[in-house]
Amino acid sequence: MILIENTVDKVRETVKNWKAQGLSVGLVPTMGYLHEGHQSLIERAVQENDRVVVSIFVNPIQFAPNEDLETYPRDLEKDSILCNDTGADLIFHPQPEEMYPNGFSTQVVMNNLTAELCGKTRPTHFSGVCTVVSKLFNIVAPNRAYFGEKDAQQLAIIKRMVKDLNFDIEIVGCPIVRESDGLAKSSRNTYLNEQERKAALILSKSILLGKEMAANGERSSAMIIKAMTDLINTEPLAKIDYVSIVNAETIEPIDTLCGEVLTAIAVYIGKTRLIDNFMISV
Ligand code: AMP
Repeated sequence: MILIENTVDKVRETVKNWKAQGLSVGLVPTMGYLHEGHQSLIERAVQENDRVVVSIFVNPIQFAPNEDLETYPRDLEKDSILCNDTGADLIFHPQPEEMYPNGFSTQVVMNNLTAELCGKTRPTHFSGVCTVVSKLFNIVAPNRAYFGEKDAQQLAIIKRMVKDLNFDIEIVGCPIVRESDGLAKSSRNTYLNEQERKAALILSKSILLGKEMAANGERSSAMIIKAMTDLINTEPLAKIDYVSIVNAETIEPIDTLCGEVLTAIAVYIGKTRLIDNFMISV
């Protein structure tokens, strides 16, 4: 069965041994409660590296006080089976005290790329993400790290951070994995009751609509945003946080679709906040 380590020292020791043998290392950072989306990242990492580390850590500093830190789903036993069966070599599963001991005082704060989309309604979220990912990069020192396009703003931010702080790590983005009916897989989907699960389909439906409009030549962000917004608003259980169209690299809003374009949405279904997006090259 796969090795599970709880301490920074143990992970460092294991990775040092691998590196001494000339082996390459891939890292897949997660918050656990793993599904096929996470699994696709692990599979890719297994293909491209000699050894793969999956971190499972519900990072307290990326949750605001009103968010779901306490209720976030956890199942280490099931996760370890998935990691093992997918070919990962090590799970790093630290306790919060291991990552943030008494006296912890440093944060990695990104000035740009955080003003729009999720950064707008979750203003402290991405400093929490950048801080924990920097720590994981320093602890594991992987050759490559794998992130999902599901969290497109996070992926853009991590790529920028790696450039800015000169991490010698290749960042690999992986496509969104969906349920058979289109809903993007997410650990938070478990919060949805039967009625909400049906209502949640409005996210992928509106993504599909936007994608089709763009594919058919629509270049006005306002037109696409309006059509997607109107569609989401037909679902009584849905409450829009944002529907936005931005440059995929800078996360700055654009009026006309041009270059690498990210169309992203966040929608509450009942109390559960879900995200989805699509990217196109115009
Ligand atoms: P999380 O555990 O939610 O922090 O996610 C860990 C990683 O898995 C992040 O890089 C996510 O973008 C990625 N991920 C989560 N859901 C999906 C999905 N449905 N498809 C692809 N990647 C995903």
